[in-house]
Amino acid sequence: MDCIFCKIINKEIPATIVYENDYVMAFDDAHPVAPVHTLIVPKKHIASMMELKEEDMVYVDEIHKAIQEVAKIKGVAESGFRIITNFGEDGGQTIHHLHYHLIGGKHLGPKIIHD
Ligand code: 5GP
Ligand code: ZN
Repeated sequence: MDCIFCKIINKEIPATIVYENDYVMAFDDAHPVAPVHTLIVPKKHIASMMELKEEDMVYVDEIHKAIQEVAKIKGVAESGFRIITNFGEDGGQTIHHLHYHLIGGKHLGPKIIHD
């Protein structure tokens, strides 16, 4: 399958891996919008949050647990961070493998961010 995040998961292309277990991988975004910008992805190819099925809910659990781990590893567990998942044309999803942006390391303000 021609999916860049599947290739990162399969270690076919490099990424700076922050955390990984049997269900999820977290790696730094190639074009960070803040000092901390890490992507958390399920190891199963799920196209977006709108394609999540009942049997995929274990990944939702694991993604949330991984968010806590990544926040600690990146040193933003106390200072705070933002989680974003984009969907569809207006949401601006460009990679069609479910991913959650963990963004922090600076004060983000009230505006929605992600370019
Ligand atoms: P989206 O717009 O789909 O929500 O976010 C996709 C994100 O993936 C973007 O923030 C983009 O910078 C990041 N990205 C795209 N290609 C690569 C890549 O090959 N490696 C990494 N680490 N991040 C990527
Ligand atoms: Zn994929």
